[in-house]
Amino acid sequence: MAALQIAERAMPAEDTLAAVSASLVGGYVGTKVLEKVSQKLDELPRQIVFVGGGYISFEFAHVAARAGATVEILHRGAVPLQGFDPDLVGRLVQGTRDLGVDVRLATAVHAVEKQGERLFVRCATQAGDYACETDMVVHGAGRVPEIDDLDLDTAGVQYERQGVSVNQYLQSVSNPAVYAAGDAAASPGLPLTPVASLEGEVAASNMLEGNHQAPNYTGIPTVVFTIPPLAAAGLQESAARAQGLKFRTREEDTSGWYSSRRIAVPYSAVKVLVEDGSGRILGAHILGPHAEETINLFALAIRKGLTAADLEALPYAYPTHASDVWYMV
Ligand SMILES: Cc1cc2nc3c(=O)[nH]c(=O)nc-3n(C[C@H](O)[C@H](O)[C@H](O)COP(=O)(O)OP(=O)(O)OC[C@H]3O[C@@H](n4cnc5c(N)ncnc54)[C@H](O)[C@@H]3O)c2cc1C
Repeated sequence: MAALQIAERAMPAEDTLAAVSASLVGGYVGTKVLEKVSQKLDELPRQIVFVGGGYISFEFAHVAARAGATVEILHRGAVPLQGFDPDLVGRLVQGTRDLGVDVRLATAVHAVEKQGERLFVRCATQAGDYACETDMVVHGAGRVPEIDDLDLDTAGVQYERQGVSVNQYLQSVSNPAVYAAGDAAASPGLPLTPVASLEGEVAASNMLEGNHQAPNYTGIPTVVFTIPPLAAAGLQESAARAQGLKFRTREEDTSGWYSSRRIAVPYSAVKVLVEDGSGRILGAHILGPHAEETINLFALAIRKGLTAADLEALPYAYPTHASDVWYMV
């Protein structure tokens, strides 16, 4: 029996297994049976259950399944991989299932119990209770910042579940001598490495020169590193509509394109949002080989306000995955 916690900044461990059920409320698992990913496993467990359908669960599930484990992902909501285009997510879920991973949606985990050397995961679904038995349970149900040991109350530093409460300059809203950046800040930025770098620079600059800069989160790319990868930059369709933007959507199954077909990748698609009138790229969503690289071109375009015509006018090295951008806009 083994259990693994892959999200380093997860909720603190609980003392007893009995506490597991309670600590799952809100989507978090906290228990001493869950260990950190830094603890090397001597061998791959035969069966692994991932709690939560975020990018970390999907990435590790793909690795484990390809290495021979029997893998299940249990996700509370109807659509996993929040923050990514739901249509492309649907294709990736299908690809993940075809890989042999049992992806169960609308399945809310409410307890993990240890019986002998085995772990039992108990869930609620609309159809009734569901339970499974496994060698390892991985906590992929979200991360919270590691700020509990900082005694922020003593310094009068206000905080919330996402981190230190900050204003647009990343300055604490309750103690002006304190700034926060990256995963530790409750800022609008996603908990990602490029966001932490960006916010770190902004916070340092504001500390040294006074509040004069706010982070620009426009077009920051994000990737699910599965096979194939799923990448996104800019707005989703629903967000663009909610903002009242007028746009056309270029959406296509790209599995027949040379870049996917030559390596037999059946799950491959693109969706790009182009603003009416201005031609600006509002959002780009790519599922397919080298999406993690191609998305950077769209991130540049979105951040710098480039248009579909600008991207079409670029001479790309051929044949590269980037040269597909011609056909994506
Ligand atoms: C499994 C996993 C996969 C991920 N994959 C991606 C990915 O593919 N792409 C991506 O962009 N992001 C990814 N992330 C998120 C990314 O790692 C974080 O968003 C990023 O590291 C945040 O940077 P940070 O500097 O805010 O925090 P960290 O990188 O966590 O750095 C904080 C540092 O502060 C130290 N520290 C903590 N408390 C104290 C203290 N009291 N005193 C002194 N030092 C302290 C910690 O030890 C740590 O070294 C992933 C995260 C996880 C857990």
